Amino acid sequence: MARLEVKNLHVSIEDKEILKGVDLIMNTGEIHAIMGPNGTGKSTLSAAIMGHPSYTVTKGEILLDGQDVLEMEVDERARAGLFLAVQYPSEIAGITNAEFMRAAINARRPEGNKIPVMEFIRKLDEKMAVLDMPEEMAERYLNEGFSGGEKKRNEILQLMMIESTFAILDEIDSGLDIDALKVVSKGVNAMRGENFGSLIITHYQRLLNYITPDVVHVMMNGIIVKTGGAELAKRLEVEGYKGIRDELGLEV
Ligand code: ADP
Ligand code: MG
Ligand code: MG
Repeated sequence: MARLEVKNLHVSIEDKEILKGVDLIMNTGEIHAIMGPNGTGKSTLSAAIMGHPSYTVTKGEILLDGQDVLEMEVDERARAGLFLAVQYPSEIAGITNAEFMRAAINARRPEGNKIPVMEFIRKLDEKMAVLDMPEEMAERYLNEGFSGGEKKRNEILQLMMIESTFAILDEIDSGLDIDALKVVSKGVNAMRGENFGSLIITHYQRLLNYITPDVVHVMMNGIIVKTGGAELAKRLEVEGYKGIRDELGLEV
């Protein structure tokens, strides 16, 4: 079992404090969801975990199996087992999708133990079939000319190929039609198991109809104000965030 711990995390952007003491513990085998209104710091949390340079951690810790993640460079974090699907995946010119995934897989394997080409192709075919992806997507240049829905689907393909330990999926549902949403959810559900944990960040409850979370956290104004099970997401769908605000006596 692996564990990702966020302890009393404070994060600022350009001297403005966005996260004001976030605590979160996740283990492999669990799917956690973070829900919360727009602008509460959900993306800031994922950016801090992945080491985005614009976000300054002013206090607190992030530990992966006790190792200090904040001391690691971005590529080290990926090699240590973290995967981040960003809200707006970038295009990387001159490298095909398949080349990228092969390099990412090999980066996580011990020196001199590269994935054999045939094994890579078999695995790629298998995962692309789960995601209903046409074969040519593998040979396209990374994200170049991909539609929003294709990028999302491709991120999940990368996750399934790289087999990261923890995936932070920030609004993977935004801009997806219902069929694409089902496919992306199928991919995440296929990853479920004792060697995988995921933090799913979403604005809407809709995604959680397809990926049932074990734990749901509600973030407001830079902190986690409430944690519960899948029923908490259902409650938010009925009551909106107002119900939680009223219960906890929070303003705005
Ligand atoms: P969420 O993902 O919950 O919608 P974000 O983490 O994206 O929230 O944003 C939290 C707050 O940080 C918002 O008030 C937003 O305006 C601010 N913010 C985000 N990115 C930047 C930035 N690059 N510069 C200044 N403020 C930012
Ligand atoms: Mg936002
Ligand atoms: Mg966001």
